[in-house]
Amino acid sequence: MLDKVVIANRGEIALRVQRACRELGIKTVAVHSTADNNLKHVLLADETVCIGPPQSINSYLDMPSIIAAAEVTDAVGIHPGYGFLSENADFAERVESSGFVFIGPPASAIRLMGDKVSAIRSMKAAGVPCVPGSDGPLGEDPDENIRIARSIGYPIIIKASGGGGGRGMRVVHVEASLLAAITVTKAEARAAFNNDVVYMEKFLGKPRHIEFQVMADNHGNAIHLGERDCSMQRRHQKVVEEAPAPGITDEQRNRIGARCVRACLDIGYRSAGTFEFLYENNEFYFIEMNTRVQVEHPVTEMITGVDIVREQLRIAAGETLSITQDQVRFQGHAVECRINAEDPKTFMPCPGLITLWHAPGGPGVRVDSHIYSGYKVPPYYDSMIGKVITHGSDRDAALARMRNALTEIVIEGIKTNVPLHQEIFQHSAFQHGGTDIHYLEKRLGLV
Ligand code: ADP
Repeated sequence: MLDKVVIANRGEIALRVQRACRELGIKTVAVHSTADNNLKHVLLADETVCIGPPQSINSYLDMPSIIAAAEVTDAVGIHPGYGFLSENADFAERVESSGFVFIGPPASAIRLMGDKVSAIRSMKAAGVPCVPGSDGPLGEDPDENIRIARSIGYPIIIKASGGGGGRGMRVVHVEASLLAAITVTKAEARAAFNNDVVYMEKFLGKPRHIEFQVMADNHGNAIHLGERDCSMQRRHQKVVEEAPAPGITDEQRNRIGARCVRACLDIGYRSAGTFEFLYENNEFYFIEMNTRVQVEHPVTEMITGVDIVREQLRIAAGETLSITQDQVRFQGHAVECRINAEDPKTFMPCPGLITLWHAPGGPGVRVDSHIYSGYKVPPYYDSMIGKVITHGSDRDAALARMRNALTEIVIEGIKTNVPLHQEIFQHSAFQHGGTDIHYLEKRLGLV
């Protein structure tokens, strides 16, 4: 096993990684900014290294500082968590060339999947269903682009190959707007991602967001752990996630899951990853792959019993996956609420001192959070302060447990989105299941 690991992240995921390390007897090094001296995992770490000022660009995104921290502490591996440098192929490469183990996929796989055009190409080759669209980047010929759009059928969406975080996309409803939309998206993509490659896809009107969790080791083994439904979103940010996805059949799960596994083997994937799909009229359409552990991984852990972060650490240490596809069993249903330090009505971030914190509990309730009474949420980072996950024998049981948990939870001193979650869990459409990605914004009157 790895002897000592640097956790190159903060907040709940840093604590999550630390917990998995401890169970495996791995020592942990918490690298943190000056704003994060009092983070829970920093207080609990075997060693800590301050890597810079609050601004992420000078701390959590500063590759030389993180690698230097690994050097001075004699660590063997670096876990990037999610966000920050987790999907940065250059970072993965520099970690490895400095002699450390990057606890994630090979840099080549991150690079391939980070470029959407090359990602879609390799997915098509592996037989993964993709959104009908241009086969590769759009060229300069206007007539050809008009022809491609006509053959796909309006509405279409122009997307930047290097895009991310919901940026670099433009929907086109009529042919008259097409060429201008391509020009503008290209210019924006050049400015934002230093890459003006754009492509075209059919715009799906009312899709759900359904994603498949995969894991692969260095010995030619890959498995999928089923799917999650993350359709409850606001501004492309997931708010509630669940597993399994309501209404998805075993046949669909096995078929799409097997394609994802095939794709992992084809691209030489390793560690945890997620294939994201839009789902409409009983069809799956691949949109992108996330080459890291995701915020919502616990719902999959709750229904499979597989500890995804533990597997990541084992795989990075050169071990084989501890479970085969045949051994994967799905039990019951799990749902997750992301708890954000924000105003539940305006969604404005609300950092500050937490004066009182009571975590919910009881059977089937899991809380992944770094907060405690007296902890001050700094203003510099993402507003998510934790996740509440509930598991039950079926969806109704998981939802009932979440409703309970949301009444038990106490966070005083700052505003949080708990009231929003309490409201969502009363919506009849949500209780019924299978709402599309626009549901929440419509319901909130935001669109
Ligand atoms: P990003 O990397 O920026 O997250 P994605 O390709 O994952 O980009 O798309 C983000 C979101 O944009 C999707 O979750 C979906 O809401 C919307 N979207 C992307 N492609 C399409 C499409 N072809 N049709 C409809 N909506 C889409």
